[in-house]
Amino acid sequence: MTDPTTAAPPGGSAFAAAADGFLPGADRSRPPAAGDLALPVTGAKLLGSADGRPLRVADLPADTDWVPLGTLDGIPAWATDLATADALPDRALGWASLGWASLAAEVPEPYATLAGRALAVITWRRTHRWCGACRGELTDLPGETARRCADCGLYVPMQLSAAVLVAITRPSPTGRADELLLVRHATGPTGLWALVAGFVEAGETLEAAVHREVGEEVGLAVDRLVYFGSQPWAISGPGVLLAGFTARAADPHAEPVVDGEELTQAQWFGLDALPAELPPAYSISRWLIDATVTAGRR
Ligand SMILES: [Zn+2]
Repeated sequence: MTDPTTAAPPGGSAFAAAADGFLPGADRSRPPAAGDLALPVTGAKLLGSADGRPLRVADLPADTDWVPLGTLDGIPAWATDLATADALPDRALGWASLGWASLAAEVPEPYATLAGRALAVITWRRTHRWCGACRGELTDLPGETARRCADCGLYVPMQLSAAVLVAITRPSPTGRADELLLVRHATGPTGLWALVAGFVEAGETLEAAVHREVGEEVGLAVDRLVYFGSQPWAISGPGVLLAGFTARAADPHAEPVVDGEELTQAQWFGLDALPAELPPAYSISRWLIDATVTAGRR
């Protein structure tokens, strides 16, 4: 079990720190300067120097097409979409490419959040080149992470998908520590014991999405729903925002039932006997689980 003294506290101190250091933005009012931060993306990975040194705009060719990301501690940061790393200068520098999960696990905040935005913005631009209404070409709007169709005027902002996840607890039937509901998914990291989660539907509140997902995925009802915190998530495509909640099982004697398609298992675990295969330390899933364990000890 994770030592709660080393785990991120409720709400995630990592991203609280990020809010101070990294400010998202789309300011093109001044061109990239040599010392600005550079985040080149190839495919679904971010390129960095092999020695971990932050890349600067001067490290890449002068004709690079830069996209504004915002500022990190006041320094402008720029991303670019590289079809291939072959064109990069000075291979002797060494280049390393990492997906966001690896980055988030290895790179300190707020750089991991900045890297997540780089991947999300570049992925969005790559998949939003043409107008969905008239097939015209989309062009960038100054100062916004948005595009407009030159032919019909359609406005195409970068949109976030909201998803919820919930740590559900119940009193132990044996009077010992409270129990936490954990589930295993049929796809993705199938060995992990994770939380019930799902995307928010149009026309739904975050809270309603929690109730619906819990009902659909494990057939339970919950109450005492409390908002916990949120995390930008750069793994599941562009622009996912995770919102975490805690809740109590409405019926402490009800057992979860999985559909066998989305989930393969769902099980109550004593807070003093959680499995080892838990979500990674940089995820809000893990912050929720660790906070639930800490709260259960009080
Ligand atoms: Zn159009």
